[in-house]
Amino acid sequence: MIDLKLIEQLTNAWGVSGNENQVRQIIRKQIEKNVDDIRVDAMGNLIAFKKAKSSKLKAMKVMIAGHMDEVGLMVTSIDKAGYLKFDKVGGIDNRVLLAKRVLVGKDRTPGVIGVKPIHMLYRKGEHKKVSSHEDLFIDIGASSQEEAQRSVNPGDYVMFDTPCEDWGRLIKAKAFDDRIGCYMMIELLKKRYSFDLYAAFTTQEEVGLRGGRVAAYRHLPDMAFILEGTPAGDFPQSQVKDVSRTPALGKGPVITVMDRTVFCDKGLVKLLTDTAKANRIPVQIKRPGTGGTDAGRIHMTKEGVKTVVLAIPSRYIHSPVCLISKRDVAAGMKLMEETFKKIR
Ligand SMILES: [Zn+2]
Repeated sequence: MIDLKLIEQLTNAWGVSGNENQVRQIIRKQIEKNVDDIRVDAMGNLIAFKKAKSSKLKAMKVMIAGHMDEVGLMVTSIDKAGYLKFDKVGGIDNRVLLAKRVLVGKDRTPGVIGVKPIHMLYRKGEHKKVSSHEDLFIDIGASSQEEAQRSVNPGDYVMFDTPCEDWGRLIKAKAFDDRIGCYMMIELLKKRYSFDLYAAFTTQEEVGLRGGRVAAYRHLPDMAFILEGTPAGDFPQSQVKDVSRTPALGKGPVITVMDRTVFCDKGLVKLLTDTAKANRIPVQIKRPGTGGTDAGRIHMTKEGVKTVVLAIPSRYIHSPVCLISKRDVAAGMKLMEETFKKIR
């Protein structure tokens, strides 16, 4: 039902913000035969166009958008001993960095983010502190600055090295945010609809919704559906009084009503929830007020665009070990297909 091979290819690919080329190539190859036009704009957004079924003079313009980039790191300097200092690209919690395997630069040089062993935590309370990423370093096994410089340079991207794995009901990978949205868009482009469809695979979302901002401008859609990954909360959380732990994996895709960047269009939220109900597709509502997506920019394009977000819940999002449910992906795609039947 869902194409695990393609999800694996998409999530294993390099795509830290500003370096989306490999993801773009994979997507282009997948959609080329199914669309009427493809263009890449100056920001690196890949925008595919699929004409409406009938040749009505004024077909509705619908955009689907998902971002190609993922959070990661960038090398800032190499010290005399050959260790790499780095900065974060996008929102990464310092706690998830410790002792992780990474790949550095175009040669994909393997490295680890070094961490002081427990035996050497001499200062009182030191083990309770979270190290700032400025105090961390990447060890690529080089014995000197010169040796490290043979394969790595400041400005090189660093990606988590955690391959996609099929866990039966769930899938584990990095970068479900938002390769899973990209995946659903690729699948949606296989069909033709009664409206003109623009599929915007955007860049640099994780560093400030930059690609999405210009993607909608050129085509100015009548409405936009943002397909995303969103944090799941269904794991043990000792301090949290709220026991609802939403959203949960396996309970359906998640609809945003309001987040930090957008109030989603009421009509489109209703269209999604009504369609879900009519087709017995489970859906969840995102906890209002948290997070943000490309919707935050796209809905403010020119004179405004009616916009809504549909997302697949992912545990441990923005970490190297995200988990999603296959059922949620299938339900999300079904909901989009059924919703698209109602737009004309
Ligand atoms: Zn995202």
